[in-house]
Amino acid sequence: MTGQQEMPYRVESDPDWNTVAAGTARVGLHPDEAAPEVIVISGPCPRCRHETVHSEPLIAYANALSRTSLLARVLRHRAAEPGSREVEVICGCLTSHSETGEHKGCGASWVLHVEWGV
Ligand SMILES: [Zn+2]
Ligand SMILES: [Zn+2]
Repeated sequence: MTGQQEMPYRVESDPDWNTVAAGTARVGLHPDEAAPEVIVISGPCPRCRHETVHSEPLIAYANALSRTSLLARVLRHRAAEPGSREVEVICGCLTSHSETGEHKGCGASWVLHVEWGV
């Protein structure tokens, strides 16, 4: 892929990318698969084909609340149950695309359906 002209940064999404990414993405559930706190999705970006990694915290919003908050405990409990999430992945490849400005990646985003505990 070296030597080819990189495509410029563009904020776009395409339903086809969801399908492509579903076939190529690697999904990691941390700290364990039954009760994940973070989903880590890695794999090639369906637009620019560069390797990208995306972390999706599942209970970060619970941590932002008081530890004694009932809502926080409910959210924690819920995170430990079987579940699923539509994760929006935004290309964060380390290749410098032109016109990126302050951004990382090529601007592509896609949605991956992740399930756990099933
Ligand atoms: Zn890229
Ligand atoms: Zn990309």
